[in-house]
Amino acid sequence: MSFGFSVGDFVAVLQMANTIRDRFIGAPEQFKAISNEVTGLSNVLRDIESVQSQQELTDWQKNALVPVLKECHTVLVALGKVVDENCYLKPLNSHSFRDKSRRIWKRVTWEPAEVQELRSRVVLNIGLLSAFNGSLISKVTLGTKDEVERLHTRQDMRERHEEHQTILDWLTPIDYAAQQQDFISRRQAGTGQWLLNSDEFQTWLNTDNQTLFCPGIPGAGKTILTAVAINDLTTRFQNDPGVSIAYLYCNFRRKDEQKAQDLLASLLKQLSEERSSLPDSVKSLYNKHKEKRTRPSLDEISRALQSVASAYSRVIIIVDALDECQASDGCRMTFLTEIFSLQTKTRANLFATSRFIPDITEKFNGSTIFEIRAHDKDVRQYLDSRISQSGQKLLETHREEIKTEITKAVDGMFLLAQLHFESVSTKKTLKKMKDVLKNLPTGPKAYDYAYEEAMKRIGAHDTDSEELAKQVLSWITCSKRPLSVSELQYALAVEVDKAELDEENLPQLEDMVSVCAGLVTIDEESSIIRLVHYTTQEYFERTQRQWFPDAQTNITIVCVSYLSFDEFKSGICENDEEFEQRLQLNKLYDYAAHNWGHHARQASTLCRDVIEFLQKQAQVEASSQALIAVKRWSGHRKYSQNVPKQMTSLHLAAYFGVDEAVQFLIGSDNPDPEDNYGQTPLLWATMNGHEAVVKLLLDKGAELETKDIEYSQTPLSWAAINGHEVVVKLLLDKGAELETKDNYGRTPLLWAARNEHEAVVKQLLDKGAELETKDNYGRTPLSRAAKDGYEAVVKLLLDNGAELETKDNYGRTPLLWAAQNGHEAVLKLLLATGEIDADVKGSDGRTPLWWAARHGDGAVKLLLATDRVNVDSVDRYNSTPLSIAARMGHRDVVTFLLSQSLSLTVKDNFGRTPLWWARRAGYPYIADLLLEKYKENGILIQEDDLPTTIISVPSDESSGYCDICVLGISEEDSYYHCRVCNNGDFDICEGCFTMNAYCLDQSHTLIKK
Ligand SMILES: [Zn+2]
Ligand SMILES: [Zn+2]
Repeated sequence: MSFGFSVGDFVAVLQMANTIRDRFIGAPEQFKAISNEVTGLSNVLRDIESVQSQQELTDWQKNALVPVLKECHTVLVALGKVVDENCYLKPLNSHSFRDKSRRIWKRVTWEPAEVQELRSRVVLNIGLLSAFNGSLISKVTLGTKDEVERLHTRQDMRERHEEHQTILDWLTPIDYAAQQQDFISRRQAGTGQWLLNSDEFQTWLNTDNQTLFCPGIPGAGKTILTAVAINDLTTRFQNDPGVSIAYLYCNFRRKDEQKAQDLLASLLKQLSEERSSLPDSVKSLYNKHKEKRTRPSLDEISRALQSVASAYSRVIIIVDALDECQASDGCRMTFLTEIFSLQTKTRANLFATSRFIPDITEKFNGSTIFEIRAHDKDVRQYLDSRISQSGQKLLETHREEIKTEITKAVDGMFLLAQLHFESVSTKKTLKKMKDVLKNLPTGPKAYDYAYEEAMKRIGAHDTDSEELAKQVLSWITCSKRPLSVSELQYALAVEVDKAELDEENLPQLEDMVSVCAGLVTIDEESSIIRLVHYTTQEYFERTQRQWFPDAQTNITIVCVSYLSFDEFKSGICENDEEFEQRLQLNKLYDYAAHNWGHHARQASTLCRDVIEFLQKQAQVEASSQALIAVKRWSGHRKYSQNVPKQMTSLHLAAYFGVDEAVQFLIGSDNPDPEDNYGQTPLLWATMNGHEAVVKLLLDKGAELETKDIEYSQTPLSWAAINGHEVVVKLLLDKGAELETKDNYGRTPLLWAARNEHEAVVKQLLDKGAELETKDNYGRTPLSRAAKDGYEAVVKLLLDNGAELETKDNYGRTPLLWAAQNGHEAVLKLLLATGEIDADVKGSDGRTPLWWAARHGDGAVKLLLATDRVNVDSVDRYNSTPLSIAARMGHRDVVTFLLSQSLSLTVKDNFGRTPLWWARRAGYPYIADLLLEKYKENGILIQEDDLPTTIISVPSDESSGYCDICVLGISEEDSYYHCRVCNNGDFDICEGCFTMNAYCLDQSHTLIKK
C-alpha cells in the first residue's frame, strides 16, 4: 500500500480491520482481549469513515492521519500472520456446505509476547484515532493547528511508550508474568488459602521490613503457593500506586539467563514498569551502555534498583525456589546479599521459598520461618476435581477411598497426589486399582517409585507411543534450555537424511503429553513444554543411561540434520527481515544453531551426520549467523549482519569445542582459515575455553599471534579476557607473546586485572608480564583493579611490587581511583603499604579525602588517620571536602570534618560555601551543624548570600553527575558536555554552567544536552 493519504487507502485499512476482526471469531479464550481490541479499532475507523465521507478532510488532518493509518496497517498485517499461524484449515467436509474452508484454531502454539506487543500497539492506535475522531465531530472549527498538535502530542506519547518498552526489554527480555499466569492457572480454587490466612503471612503483610521464609520438602507445593501469594498481593494492592510488587521464579533450567545480574535486572524492570514515567536511573543506565553495547554491572543495577525502590512507600519482593538458583560461581549468595541489602535500605518485604538447604536457610536466620507442606484439605480438593474431570465411572464410585488412600500416602508432598492419581486413574479394573491404592509408596523414596511406575506404564504402551514418549522425555531432560512446544514438535518431526521437514510428520501436542504418563506438562502462557517437577528432572538425570542412553547423540543428529536442510542452502540472510522470517518459519533453527555443538560435545562418539553438516559451507554459514547474531533491543537494526561471514566448519567446530570434529576437519588443511573479521578457529576456541581443541590446533601449528580485525586481539588476549586458566597455560607454554596490545592498548595482563581473573593475573605475572603496562587511558593493571575495587587482584599486584604512584591521563593514581569509586577495602590495602602519597591530586585537583567525603564512608577516617592529608585541600574549583560532604548530606562526615577543619566558610569559585550548599541541597540538619560551629567560632553569616530555594537532586548516583559540583543530574534537566575531558565523560549541570563553570580546558567546546 502506498501511503500518502487517499480515501482508498483509508477504506482499505478499514476493510482490513473488519476482516481481522471476523477472523478472530471462534478464537480461544487467550485471544479474547486482542479480539475485542481489534473490534474497537474497526469501530473507530468506521466512525471516522462516516464523518469523512460527508466532509473533505483538511490537509492538516490528512497529514496527521497518514502515520496512524500506516501503523494500523502494519499492526493488522502482523495480526493476520498471528491468525494464520494459529489456525489450520479443516479438510473439506462434504456434509458441511456452509463453511467452505473452515478455520480451526490450534490450541496452544502462539507467542503471547508477540500478541501482547501487538495489543499495546492496537490500543495506542485506538486512542490516537479516537482523539482524531473527537476533533472531527466537535463543533469547534475543524482542522486547526491546535488539534493536530494535540494529536502529535499523543503520537509523542506513543513513541515515548515504545522507547520505554525498548529500555525495559533491554534490561531483561525475561517476563515472569507468563509463568505466574501458568502457575496460578494450575491452582484449584480455594487451595492454599491457609497460607494467606496464617498469622505468619498476615503479620508479614502488615509490617514493613519483614522477611517470610517458606522452606519445604521437594514437591510440597511451594511454587503454586508462591503463585497464590503473588496473586493475593497483586489483587490487594492493584489500586495502590505507592506499593510495588516484583517477583521471580528461579528455575534450574534457566540458570544461564538467571545470573545474579539478570535476577536483579528483572526486579528493576518490574519496579520500573509500574512508574508512570521511566525512572532516570534506568534511562541513564541504558544511555550509558547502549552505544558501547555493554551490559550494566551488578553494582550499577543494584544502585538503580535501590533508587527506583525508594520511590515507593512499600516494596514487596517474592522469590520462588532459591534452591534452583545456581550456587556455583556464587550467583545465589550474591543475589541474596543484594536482596538483603536492598531490604535494609528500603524496608522492603521479602517472601522466599526454597528446599531445605543449609546455606540458604542460614541466610534467613532471624526471619519468620513458615514451613510449606501440602495440606490434606487441599489434596482432597485436588483429587475431587481430578476425579470429576476424568469422567471415569470406576473413579467416581470409589471417590472417597481414592481420596483417603492417596491423601494418606502424600504426607506433605503435593506432587505425590498428582503422580499417584496418574497411576490409579489408568487402572481399568477395581482389583488393579485397589492393588495400587494399597501399595502407594510413601516417604522420601516415593518419587522415584512413582517415576519408575510411570516409566513402566510407558513401556506397556504400543511401540509407537513408547518411542514418542522416550523421545519427548529425552529431549526435555537433555535440552540446554526450556523448549517451546513448537520447537519440540519440529524436533520430533525431523527425519534424518531428508532435505526438508515434512509437516505431516509433526506429532500432535495432545499425544506428546498423554503418552508421557503424567510426567510432562505444558505451560500454556509461556508455550513451554516441561517435566512436571524438578524432582522428575533429577530422576532422569540419574537414570538417563537406563531410559535413553543415546539421547545426546540422537539430539545432535536431529540438530545437524535440521541445519543441513535445503532451506538453509542460500547461506546467510542479507537483512534483518529475511533473517527473522527464517527464524519464524523454521522453529528449530534457533535452538539447533545454538546447541548442536554442545550436544555433540556430550555425545559418546562423533557421528557421520555432524561431518556431513560441516561439509555444507552454505549451511554452516547460515547456522553461524543464528548462533552469533543477537538482537539487543527491539529497535536494534542490522544486528543480523553484525556477524562474521565466511565462517568455516573448522571455526564452528572450534567455537563449540567438538574436538573430534576438529581432528577430522583439520587433516592436512590450513589450521588458520580467517573469517571476514580476521578470526581464526584458535581464536574462537580460546575465547570459549575449549582446552582440547586449543591443544589440537596448536599441535597442528596454528598461528599464535593472529589478531582479529575489529579489536586486534590475539588468542591470549581472549583467554585472559574470559579467564580461561588452562588455555592461558597452553598458549604460554607455546610461547605466546605477553605484551601484545589491542586497540584499547591493553595487554593480556591488563585484561585479566580488569576482569578480575585472579588466577590468570598470577599466571601472567609468573611468566614475567610487564606490571607497569598502560592502556590508552594511561591505566596500569593496578589502577584498573583499584578502580573497580577488585581486592584480591590489587593484593596480588601489590605483592608483585606494582608501582603505587603511577598516574593515568588525568593524573589519577590507584589510590585516587579507589577513593573516587568508594572502594574502601582497596583504599585500606593501598594505605597499608605505608609508602603511598595519601594526599595526591588528580588533574581536577581532587584528593582521595575529597572523594571519600563525597561517598560519606569510613574512608574519610582512614585517610585522616594517616596524618598525611590536608583536611581543607581544595579542588580546581575551590571546593573543600567539607563542602562536598555538606552538599551530599553526609551528617557523620560533616561532623567529623568540622572537628578538624579550619576553613569553615571557604567559598568555591562560584561563591558557594558549605552552608550555601547545605541550604541549597535541602539538608537542614547539616545547616544546623554548620551554624552551631560558626557560632562557636564567632563567624557571622550573610543570610543574603544564601539560597532560599532547594534544588532537587536525584539521590541516585547511577544517573550522570556534574563533574564540577558532583551532584546528580536529572534526566529532565539539560546539561553541558565536553567530549574531550575525562576521556569524553565530562558533564556540567545547568546550575554550575550558569555560574560560568567550565571543563578542564577553556578552549574546549561544550555541547548542550
Ligand atoms: Zn554542578
Ligand atoms: Zn573539556
